[in-house]
This record gives sequence, structure tokens and C-alpha cells, in this order.
Amino acid sequence: MRRETTYHDTRGGDRSHPAFSDVVVTGIAPGGGLYVPDELPALDLDEVLVFAEWPYWRRAAAIFSRFGVDLPTGRIDALMREAYGAQWSDPRIAPVVEVRPDVHVLELWHGPTSAFKDMALQCMPLFFSEAVSIKQARGALAEDFLVLVATSGDTGKAALEGFADRPHTKIAVFYPAEGVSDIQRKQMVTQHGENVVVFGARGNFDDCQTAVKASFADEDFTEELRSRHGLALSSANSINWGRLLPQIAYYVSAYADMVANGGVVAGRPIDVCVPTGNFGNILGAYYAKRLGVPIERLICASNENNVLTDFIATGAYDISGRDFVTTPSPSMDILVSSNLERQLYELTRDPARIVEWMTELRAGGRFKVDRDTHRAMRSHFTGDFVTNDDSLATIRRVWDESGYLLDPHTAVAWEVAERQRADNPVLVVSTAHWAKFGTDVYRALRGLSCADELPADIDGLTGVELLAEVQKLAPEGACVPHALATLDEATERFSGVVDADREGIEGALRDWLG
Ligand SMILES: *Cc1c(COP(=O)(O)O)cnc(C)c1O
Repeated sequence: MRRETTYHDTRGGDRSHPAFSDVVVTGIAPGGGLYVPDELPALDLDEVLVFAEWPYWRRAAAIFSRFGVDLPTGRIDALMREAYGAQWSDPRIAPVVEVRPDVHVLELWHGPTSAFKDMALQCMPLFFSEAVSIKQARGALAEDFLVLVATSGDTGKAALEGFADRPHTKIAVFYPAEGVSDIQRKQMVTQHGENVVVFGARGNFDDCQTAVKASFADEDFTEELRSRHGLALSSANSINWGRLLPQIAYYVSAYADMVANGGVVAGRPIDVCVPTGNFGNILGAYYAKRLGVPIERLICASNENNVLTDFIATGAYDISGRDFVTTPSPSMDILVSSNLERQLYELTRDPARIVEWMTELRAGGRFKVDRDTHRAMRSHFTGDFVTNDDSLATIRRVWDESGYLLDPHTAVAWEVAERQRADNPVLVVSTAHWAKFGTDVYRALRGLSCADELPADIDGLTGVELLAEVQKLAPEGACVPHALATLDEATERFSGVVDADREGIEGALRDWLG
């Protein structure tokens, strides 16, 4: 077996140097820090370029092996074949498409839920389940896990698909009953799997999230789960290292593909532009750069919730005077980008400063990094943001000019990439299939703004019927993934709606577990 990489955390709370399988199951370190590897592997150019000759599962397995994951190589290979197998609509899994000679798009939405979260959530639950099984066999763990998810849409479905029927796990998802699109709701309530359950909650996403956190913190409840059902709680959220590692692989993969397709000369740099919310996706690009992939600029694209744009420009992260804005790119509607903590740690390697900044953020809603850290940040990152109406205008313009249909998240990245264009070829990271956000794509193609009412005949359609209207507007190039196109006929398994508070959530779980 290879040498295993061990981990420590950004706040210095865990001195035990756990292995990969430990940090996947634990999620967050005692003291609230995020796990990072003790050391990073290095890839030379030939090791990057050979990826182009391999199927995607092997590319991902190579990254996991180089990161010293504590499983035998054969087992990593087997899990990766399963994670990146026939459930993907494109056998290349994460293809790079040349939309213009200077703009290449990395499509991360060929997975079962048509959004980028699948890249990690088709993979991480396999390792989670495997790790639990090994620990139980060693007698180091007695419980199975109940994964609790509060979702504003995308994450819930991707987590359900990832954990469905995984041994040693159950998953319960709570979504704001009035706060998700028709398509998002149907994707979730039609989920297959014996170990899954889905509830609407009477409240908004914040209420759901607060209620789920309150259940985690309720010791009587967690003890009841343990003693009556043999279950411990887990959140499997995007700060789990098990979700980050798969996101490094596709940047290595994309560079190799770009060289193979003539998009960049081997060894020459590219810029990468990522539509950013929690900073997980773009952090994968940063780590790929650290491994040796020739990436020059990491361009951080935001919507009107542009706290990261300001942070990169000024070194001050400030949400104290900010209101949360609703945008056509809801998966980027985030004020506290949790994974930024890892980035700041990698730039400083100083847990004391991380603790200080995170404490200031919690107490006063802002922190400012020192000049050296800001300079280090600027040496890798640039950032910009796009308004709601500009993001829709971009969808329309790119469709007219290039015949390529963007979803609203990708449109934000496309527009920022255009504005920041320099000499390097740009890789625009595409995080969702347009059909997941059909209503705003319809608005864009009709030249409507975000605030405009939909025409009455359109407003009454189901989400799937509306996709057919988009297809009429964009006849070539607008095909709908099968799993979305058939949603209106799929059987709805879950109709429960509960109050979005601790009692509502715990009551729902008690009824379900029996
Ligand atoms: C989650 C998500 C993002 C944001 O990714 P982060 O890793 O949180 O920065 C962007 N677009 C889509 C469609 C997403 O689902």
C-alpha cells in the first residue's frame, strides 16, 4: 500500500493526524476547523497530460491515490468505476467543449441530477460508506449514519442520488416547501432508494437550515437516535474534504483534455473562471494549480451577492451591512463562503490567524486579512460580479452568437471571463444544465428581465412543460436530459410537509424511523 496522507485542521483543534477515511466520516474538526492534507502531492506535466488517454474514473482514481487515500489501490479503482459509470449521460463525464477558440467550457453537469454537485456527490458517499464499514469491522465505530440535509434545491437532490441505497447510511432532506422550483421539488420527491426520505418545510431555506442545525445540537435527540436506532448524525456538506478531493480531479483532467484538443500548448498556462458560492469548486482549481497544473489566474465569478468580489479587491470580508439578494443563480446566493477558510489557511498556514478572523466574522460580520495574505490571495485570484439582468442578457447573447445555451450560473462565469480576458485561453466552468433553471433561461431567450412577469400562458405550465417552450425558442442545441424530461410522469413518493423548526424536524424523523 502507498504511503497514506494524514490531515490536520485550519484552526489547530485536531492534533491526532487522522487519515482520509477518518476526515470523511468526521466532516468538521473539533473546534470548528476544516481538514486539509498535511502535504500536497506534485504532478509533473507528463503525469497531467497522460490523463487525456484514460477514462475519467481512472483520472479520479489517480488523484485519490496521489493524495494518499487510505484504501488499497484496487478498492479506489472499484469505487471510482462505480462513481463515474453509466449513470452519467456523457462517457467523458466532465468534457471540455470549445465554444469559441479562446473560450472552452468544462461541463460538470452530465451526472444524474444535471448539476455540478454530482461530481463530488456521486463519489463521496461511496467512500463514506466504505469508511464506516471498515471502522465497524475494526470495532472502532458502532453506529450507522443518518445524513441530514437542509437544501435550497441542488444539493438535496445530488445528496439523495449519492446516498440512495448506500450501506450504513440513511438520508433525510428538508427543503423550503414554497422555495424551490417545480422541477427541483419533483426531482427530490421522486427519489428512489430504501434509505431516503424527503420533507417540505413551512419556512424559507434559512429556517430549514437553522432547524436542522438545532436538531444536530439537541443532545437528547442525538442520544435517542443512537440508543433506539443505532444512528449518528452527519451532514456531508460541502466543507467535507471528501467532497473537495473529487473537485481537484476534474481540473487536472480538463487541462489534459485542452492540450489533447489543441486548446492550449502543453505547458502553457490557462485561466479558469468559476461561478462561485461556497468557494468549493474554485478551491479545487487552486489545489490543482498547487499540484502543478499550468493554471495562471483563478477568476472568481459572483452574482449580486458579491462579497467575494469585494474581498479579493480589498482584503476585507464584510457581510455586516449586506442583505441577501435573490438571483437567477440561487446556488451562488451565499454570504458566508465556508471553504474560503481553507484558502486562507493554505495562504497563511497559521491556525491562530484563522481562529481570529473566523471569530471576528461570527461576532461582527467582518474581518480584514493582513497585507501579505491579501497580496498572496491577489497573486492567484481575480474576481468580478454580474447583475441579475446582465446574467440573463449573457444567456441570450451567447445563444445568439455561439449557439450554446448557458444556465444562469454558468452565464455569470462566462460574462466575468469576457470582461477579464487576457492572453491565456480561458476555461469557463459550467455548473448546471440549462434545463435545471428553465424559467430564467426562458426569460433570457424572450428578452425579459428578472422582474418581468411571465406571460399568463407560460406561468401556468409545469417546469417540464416550460422546458418544451425553451426548446421552441432554441431549437438546435436545447435538448433536455431524460431524467428531467420524464419528471411529470414519475411517481411522487414523499408528500410530507412539516414545520421548519426543531420539533418539526425531529417529529418527522421519529415518525419515519418508527
Ligand atoms: C453549488 C453550485 C455552485 C457554487 O459552487 P461552490 O462550490 O459552492 O462555489 C455554482 N453553481 C451551481 C449550479 C451549484 O449547484
